[in-house]
Amino acid sequence: MLIDGRKISSEIKVELKEEIEKLKNEKGRIPGLATIIIGKDKASQIYVGSKVKTCSEIGIQSFLYELAEDIEEKEVLKLIEELNIRSEVDAILVQLPLPKQISEKKIMNTIIPSKDVDCFSNENIGRMFLNPNTDIRPCTPAGILELLSRYSVKLEGKKVVILGRSNIVGKPIAIMLISSGATVTVCNSKTVDLEKIIKKADILISAIGKSKFIKKEMIKENAIIIDVGINRVDGKITGDVDFDDVIDKVSMITPVPGGVGPMTIAMLLKNTVNMYRRN
Ligand code: NAP
Repeated sequence: MLIDGRKISSEIKVELKEEIEKLKNEKGRIPGLATIIIGKDKASQIYVGSKVKTCSEIGIQSFLYELAEDIEEKEVLKLIEELNIRSEVDAILVQLPLPKQISEKKIMNTIIPSKDVDCFSNENIGRMFLNPNTDIRPCTPAGILELLSRYSVKLEGKKVVILGRSNIVGKPIAIMLISSGATVTVCNSKTVDLEKIIKKADILISAIGKSKFIKKEMIKENAIIIDVGINRVDGKITGDVDFDDVIDKVSMITPVPGGVGPMTIAMLLKNTVNMYRRN
């Protein structure tokens, strides 16, 4: 069965639109998301453009700041400090990657936690670690959990193998799944006997960025596969999993594109609405 991220994300957008409709009378305004993009990275511009469009569709006001590639770090920090106190801005997003002169860590920890929509700050990561049901969660991992939940996948007692240990995908999804009662193994590029570990997975989550790395002989019969990878090969987007090769062996799988990707944006919007409710 296909786990349809586009369909679920559309359902979430409808739910959020309804929620904004209800809240806006009480609040006297609509939610606001400020996005800062630095430089002319094509992929980032496409991604930000699509976020801005989706925001307007569901009733979130976008504040877009397009800054020059060679801007000084202190200028960006000054802008973030202004946005931190602007009452009509509920959430702040700084599009990655950043140019070399700007410290990602400094930027992420200058955004006040109550507006840190990507959930990258130390405080928000810590809060998620201690309370997995907190309303502000890292977007891609939260999107994966939402997909599993809406497809009624039970996590308790399941063996989950995660490929990748990044701060934005591998580590936070591991914490969330541990809290949900799954038995979790996190692998990295140095993991020994990777194939043996993958073969045991009831649920395999791959976030390594290697096109079609996972083949059918590597996975367990009837495994559930969540493919986070986004790889650009000859102008086409592919996942980490060889979809055509594994499709007859899996019980459920996310396609790429159309699986985890749309859920990341949906969860970003959900975090924005949750911040608006709190603000
Ligand atoms: P990252 O920071 O580059 O991390 C990749 C991780 O994969 C590292 O931990 C690395 O291990 C591990 N790895 C690499 N090769 C491996 C192998 N052969 N076996 C096991 N582990 C291996 O990547 P990321 O930011 O987490 O992103 C991962 C992928 O997901 C990328 O394709 C990215 O574009 C995609 N992504 C998609 C979404 C979405 O919304 N769909 C969101 C975020 C990211 P080491 O730590 O040992 O180097």
